[in-house]
Amino acid sequence: MKVKVDVRKCQGHALCAAKAPEIFVLNDDGYNETPETIVPESMEEKAKLGVESCPEGAITIEE
Ligand code: SF4
Repeated sequence: MKVKVDVRKCQGHALCAAKAPEIFVLNDDGYNETPETIVPESMEEKAKLGVESCPEGAITIEE
């Protein structure tokens, strides 16, 4: 699976990285600038928690 971030929606809440820092890497200001990340199978559940945590709805999952 992949996680996709609409970087224009990201408001720098950093909640995604708090849930899954291995998947969601933020810049120095706390914004997610990575539009697409491939998630290893072993990290999928953790990544989903990060997706659900985003208050801006900026992250989507692609299977
Ligand atoms: S939780 Fe959402 S708004 Fe916050 S840094 Fe992550 S992608 Fe951006």
